[in-house]
Amino acid sequence: MSSLTSLTLKAALDGLADKSFSSEELTKAHVDVVAAAKPLNAFILETPDKAIEMAKASDARRARGEAGALDGAPLGIKDLFCTEGVRSTACSNILGNFVPTYESTVTANLWRDGAVMLGKLNLDEFAMGSSNETSAFGPVVNPWRSEGSNAKLTPGGSSGGSAAAVAADLCLGATATDTGGSIRQPAAFTGTVGIKPTYGRCSRWGVVAFASSLDQAGPIAKTVEDAAILLKSMSGHDPKDSTSLDIETPDFPSFVGKSVKGLRIGIPKEYRVDGMPPEIEKLWEQGIAWLKEAGCEIVEVSLPHTKYALPAYYIVAPAEASSNLARYDGMRFGLREPGGNLTETYENTRAAGFGAEVKRRILIGTYVLSAGYYDAYYVKALKVRRRIADDFDQAFQKVDALLTPTAPSAAFGLGENADDPVAMYLNDIFTVTVNLAGLPGMSIPAGVDAGGLPLGLQLIGKALDEGTLFSLGGAIEKAADFKAKPAKWW
Ligand code: GLN
Repeated sequence: MSSLTSLTLKAALDGLADKSFSSEELTKAHVDVVAAAKPLNAFILETPDKAIEMAKASDARRARGEAGALDGAPLGIKDLFCTEGVRSTACSNILGNFVPTYESTVTANLWRDGAVMLGKLNLDEFAMGSSNETSAFGPVVNPWRSEGSNAKLTPGGSSGGSAAAVAADLCLGATATDTGGSIRQPAAFTGTVGIKPTYGRCSRWGVVAFASSLDQAGPIAKTVEDAAILLKSMSGHDPKDSTSLDIETPDFPSFVGKSVKGLRIGIPKEYRVDGMPPEIEKLWEQGIAWLKEAGCEIVEVSLPHTKYALPAYYIVAPAEASSNLARYDGMRFGLREPGGNLTETYENTRAAGFGAEVKRRILIGTYVLSAGYYDAYYVKALKVRRRIADDFDQAFQKVDALLTPTAPSAAFGLGENADDPVAMYLNDIFTVTVNLAGLPGMSIPAGVDAGGLPLGLQLIGKALDEGTLFSLGGAIEKAADFKAKPAKWW
């Protein structure tokens, strides 16, 4: 039944609706490919029994005429989302075998609409990373390989498991999260579509916290339409998250395919960074040409504080992380390494439980929040963050959306940037500004590099204007006609 796994989410939902196949058949086909895809290391926990049970329940609902928007569709869940009764680790040893007694709101929304869970997906530890190499479960391997090479590539991070699983047709879509680029960069590296919605669109309740003022959930999907279908189910007000917005969720899928004629698209000149590879530059020009052909007006805009975005992000995000991660002390969750007294138990547990990158962030975060440095670093970074948001406000007086590359390169080799944290942080150069300003951002596969590896274009929208991104994303998808798939080697 391998053809069932190559369907888009939309096509699968249509097939379920017209009874071409059952959810049990569709789910079984996915369970089998997941089980056979161990070399990718995308799934760190498979839940085949639960999947089949959920699929049977879905078939029964459909037979009763009670099918929801996602009924019977098998999905993968990033292991940052707590799932009731199912181990949830954030890919950190410190959570050990933590089994939540509650369900994250986003996943609960998906199950409410009838989706089926295939299992939990690999990520960088606590979502800190751009290559999936900080995971306690080992890196995910990108299903894509450069032509003529067997070298293992990163699928990006932190949502590398989500992106690889969708690209390899292991699931019809996946949940992901984005604090500085973790939905969009992996989507770009794997030829998939990813959208980080406006801050507050999706509830953070039950999602393991990294940097609470930046974290947002969103989908990684095979097409723009699939992403719209998933985001619609994931979104919505949640009183359990005080930053969740109490607003209606638009009918996102209805925006896909809408004309983009007359929309004004900003090209931020500061994103033409030094050393940008020619193929990224070319892709960007191509994207501009496509949108022009579709009737958009192209306008150069300036976001003058862009160069301060990465330094500001790498102060704000670690500061919040160091505070959020204080809760892992061996008392409440997962791992406990006993010591002679309470302080020693804390120290031993945290020393053994956190990986190197997480420790680096805790050290940076604690430092920038410490007395004497708080004003010089943390408060300063917050001021820069305000300026960055103001830059976008100014630009959006003139344009409806912005177009940029998603990442400064195609997928790189596993191990390539592993010992240079700053080189790794540069992956986020085009994405972190969006999180600092709380705006929606989407990555769409738009072309390939010289080795045939996928490259993505990023659309940035006004707050709460995901709809326009879905229309523009649909236009780029249509023009790019990106049909390439990774050759199966796993
Ligand atoms: N790569 C960025 C970081 O390491 C972003 C991660 C994310 O968005 N979760 O912080």
